[in-house]
Amino acid sequence: MTDSFVTPISPQPPTGHSTPAEQPGQPSRAAQPAPTSSEPEGQHGPARLTASKLADGRDLFYYDDSPPYVTGQATRRLDDPRPLPDRTKPFRDPDSGQIHQPAGPEMRFDQLTGEWIPMASQRMNRTFLPAAASCPLCPATPGSAYSDGEIPDTDYDVAVFENRFPSYWRPPGQDIDAQWSLDGQALWPVRHASGRCEVICFSPDHQASVASLSPQRMRTVIQAWAERTAALMALEGIAQVFPFENRGPEIGVTLPHPHGQIYAYPELPPKTAAMMRQAAAWRATNGSKLLTELVETEAAGPRVIAQTEHWIAYVPAAARWPVEVHLSPLRDVPDLPALTGAECDDLASLYPRLLRGLDRFFLDDAGQPLPLPYISGWHQAPSDPALRDLARLHLQLFSIRRAPGKLKYLAGSESGMGAWISDTTPERIATRLRAALAEADAAGPPAAPDSQATLAGPASTSDVGSAVPGHSTTPDHGAASTETPGDTP
Ligand SMILES: [Zn+2]
Repeated sequence: MTDSFVTPISPQPPTGHSTPAEQPGQPSRAAQPAPTSSEPEGQHGPARLTASKLADGRDLFYYDDSPPYVTGQATRRLDDPRPLPDRTKPFRDPDSGQIHQPAGPEMRFDQLTGEWIPMASQRMNRTFLPAAASCPLCPATPGSAYSDGEIPDTDYDVAVFENRFPSYWRPPGQDIDAQWSLDGQALWPVRHASGRCEVICFSPDHQASVASLSPQRMRTVIQAWAERTAALMALEGIAQVFPFENRGPEIGVTLPHPHGQIYAYPELPPKTAAMMRQAAAWRATNGSKLLTELVETEAAGPRVIAQTEHWIAYVPAAARWPVEVHLSPLRDVPDLPALTGAECDDLASLYPRLLRGLDRFFLDDAGQPLPLPYISGWHQAPSDPALRDLARLHLQLFSIRRAPGKLKYLAGSESGMGAWISDTTPERIATRLRAALAEADAAGPPAAPDSQATLAGPASTSDVGSAVPGHSTTPDHGAASTETPGDTP
C-alpha cells in the first residue's frame, strides 16, 4: 500500500525540452519536464508540465503551451505564499481543543441500491458565486486585497490542482480496505471515500469558455486530461477516472471561471456499472461489443451532427435530455491516454466548434444566442481488467435547458423513480443542432482570448480581477472554495 498521494510523473524528459531552471528564491521543488510517454506526437507540440505544491500540501500542475515556458526560458512560480495549514498534519479542533488526525470523507453503503454514498460534510463550507475580483481560479494579482487564489503565478495556460474541499480524498497512510459499521449495524457498511478530486482551469481568462479556446489551448487541455487520467489510474484503489465540466449557474456552478473537474472514484459509479452490465449482456447474447455497435450504427443513421477524420458527434437514439450529444472517436480506444496525437489534434478543433454550435441551440427573443448550461463528461474504461474491453471512450454532453428561460426539472418520475420521460425527440435535437452548428461555423470562431496571452507578462488583460485595480474584494480566507457542485444530478 502506498501512503503517499504524490502523483507519479513520467521521469522521461521530452526530446528537445530541458528542465526549466528554478527561480531564485523559490523552494527547491523540481519543476518536472513534460512527459512524453503518454503523449503521442501530433500537429501541436506537447505542453510543458511543471509540478508544484500548494501551501497546504495539495498538488498543483501547470501545463504550458506558450513558447517561453515550453522551451524553459520562463518558469512558473512554485511557492504558495498563503498561510494554510498542511492538510496532512494533525490539527486542533477549535471548539473542543482536541487533536485530530486528518481524515477524508466517508461513504456509506445503500443496501437498497447497492451504491456507495460519500458524506462530504466539509463541502458545505464553499463560497457561493464570489465576486470576480475574488475568483480563486484567476491568476494571482499582486497588490490585490484578495490573497486566497489557488494559483500562485500571475499567469498560466492550463492548470490542474487538487480540490480544496474534495468529495473523495485519501490522506497519507489511510487504509483503503478499512470498513466498519454505522451504529454497530452490519446492515450499514462504511468506508473511506479514498479517491481524489482535482480541478482543471481551462484558461487564465475569467471570461473565457471552452468554446472560445484555440485548438492549441484545447490540445493542452486534452493533454492534461489524458495525463491526469493516466496518473490517477495508477493510484491504488481507483476504479475509474471521470473528467467533466459543469457550465452555467443553472447547473449550480459556484465559480464562473472556465474550469472543470477530474474525479478518481474508489468505486465504479452507478452509471458505469449499468453500462458495463448492458455491454456484458450484449456480448453474451450477440458476441459483439455494444459500444462499438452503437457508434457504427449511429454513424450511418439520421442523428449525426458532425464527422471528422477521427471523431463523430451524434444525438443518441434514446437521448433523455432536452439537449444531448455524444462525441466518440472512430477508433475503439479505452480512454484519453490511448488517443494518438492526430486524434487529439482533431478533437481539439472539433470539441470547441461543437460547443459553439450548442451555444446557438437556443436563441433569445431578439434572435441572439443563449450560452447553453451543460454538463459534459468523458466516459473512460474502468481499471478492472474484466471490464476494460467492454468499455469504449466517449463524451456525453447534455443540458437541462428545454427552451429559452425554461429548465427541465427532474420531478416525480425522474427523481423519485429514475424513470425518464423525454420532452422532445433525438431526431428533433439533431436537426436543430446541425443547423446551430452550421450557424456557428458561418460565424467563425470567436477571437481567442488565449491567442495573444500567456507570454511572461501579467494576467490576461481581459481578466476582471486584474482589470479592476482597487475593486472591492470579498476575501474569505476560511471559505473560498474551488469546488463546484460536481455531483449536481
Ligand atoms: Zn477567475
